[in-house]
Amino acid sequence: MSDIHEVLRTYYGYTSFRKGQEEIIHSLISGRDTLAVMPTGAGKSLCYQIPALCMEGITLVISPLISLMQDQVRALISIGVRAAYLNSSLTPRQMELAIDNARHGVYKIIYVAPERLETESFLDFACHRNIPLIAVDEAHCISQWGHDFRPSYTQIAGFIEKLPKRPVVAAFTATATPNVKKDIVSQLRLKNPFSMTLGFDRENLYFGIYKPLDKTQFVIDYIRQNMDQSGIVYCLTRKLVDELTVSLNEAGISALPYHAGMSDSDRTFHQNEFIYDRAKVMVATTAFGMGIDKPDVRYVLHYNMPANMEDYYQQAGRAGRDGEPSDCILLYSGRDVRINEFLIRKSEENENADPEEVQKHIEIQLEKLKQMTFYSTSAYTCLRKKILNYFGEKFLPPCNNCSYCRHDTENSFKKIRVLPAEKQLFVDEALLGRLEKMRIALANRSGVPAYSVVTDRTLRELSAYRPRNIGDLAKIYGLGEVKIKRYGQDFLDVINRYENEADF
Ligand code: ADP
Ligand code: MG
Repeated sequence: MSDIHEVLRTYYGYTSFRKGQEEIIHSLISGRDTLAVMPTGAGKSLCYQIPALCMEGITLVISPLISLMQDQVRALISIGVRAAYLNSSLTPRQMELAIDNARHGVYKIIYVAPERLETESFLDFACHRNIPLIAVDEAHCISQWGHDFRPSYTQIAGFIEKLPKRPVVAAFTATATPNVKKDIVSQLRLKNPFSMTLGFDRENLYFGIYKPLDKTQFVIDYIRQNMDQSGIVYCLTRKLVDELTVSLNEAGISALPYHAGMSDSDRTFHQNEFIYDRAKVMVATTAFGMGIDKPDVRYVLHYNMPANMEDYYQQAGRAGRDGEPSDCILLYSGRDVRINEFLIRKSEENENADPEEVQKHIEIQLEKLKQMTFYSTSAYTCLRKKILNYFGEKFLPPCNNCSYCRHDTENSFKKIRVLPAEKQLFVDEALLGRLEKMRIALANRSGVPAYSVVTDRTLRELSAYRPRNIGDLAKIYGLGEVKIKRYGQDFLDVINRYENEADF
């Protein structure tokens, strides 16, 4: 199968490509190295997965985190693509089995940790397979200028050069600074790459700043209005995380803490509780980071102002990866500035460091803190404009989706998420509730998170369009052939039963 629209429809169940996707896919299929810089949630994965499906042989995807690989492989399997990952979470026996399968051509896409490339056995495997494409995900990890530098990423180019035939190389990241982009091209030794850089804006995110007297009460009130949805609350310190979690729990909210002071196993456990919707709220420090790819996070609240705009936008950006309207709300107080100043000085404490260097570092960070404080306190223009201008992009206000443009105050602030007009469907809430219950049952049956069965938007369309038969299902967002086969009848039954009851 090589018509890319056909692949999009039958595997993913989507009707059209998003901005940039088609160009990137064409570039890769035509055999050209490609660098794609697109914001979180833009849909980068599909840009290498579709070429992988259209090309002969196995595509390797290099990814920095086990949780990201697991998530992607789960998503691929759920749409009927044969995929696997090779990383340290596998026992030697499982690893052997996976490589054996791979040798026999069982998989179309294999995710690998960068460290794996350095092993003899993997190189030997790769040299004896047809590998048309290598996709480097989170490619900013290759750069010292980025925030998640991973030394083993610098070995990727060496690995590629050892292969008998050079594959097409694709690099994906959401980090757009010129230094990082230059590093990616030179370190990966991309050849005359096609480069696609999309703007930074995330239209589906609402940005708000509030200064409530009682932040904890604000958080409780907010979550109570959004009880059935997943969200993250970021705090500056472990102590604040623990305290806020207790307050939320006392208010009857299923929140769990996440910070670097906890054991690895506790953290993994809490992360899974969150991903599988058994805990709706994660209260976290910045330690809760890149590994979380849950697409249906409906809000990110900042209990404290973060230290700089880069951290802020990255954390806020964990909301709404699925493109659905989501909230990013920053709760500011003057005390946050002082906590940050204290943390900056503390993080630079090092007896062996050159005092002048240390002072310079501190000043850079204090300057960034000043910009963050300016963003949080000056109420003179559209917040989206302020954010995008900070990252060097122009924006013409109003955005109509921030607390400034909407004249929201902490008192008038209620349920503010609004769907853009074209997405407004006549959703039957009662039917939607039943479909949600069915989704949970199906997720439990298959042992996957609810979002991995179908997305919120799919449920909304099911409830609005009420398909009658398997044929109608193909028109619903996110339902490809495999999901229809696996879950279609169950959803149709819910709709039928509901309509029969309504007739009486
Ligand atoms: P990124 O890696 O750029 O942050 P992902 O690849 O994880 O984003 O995609 C984010 C979400 O958008 C996923 O749920 C994905 O299925 C969805 N998506 C991607 N492309 C499309 C499309 N063309 N139409 C609809 N949804 C899409
Ligand atoms: Mg991604």
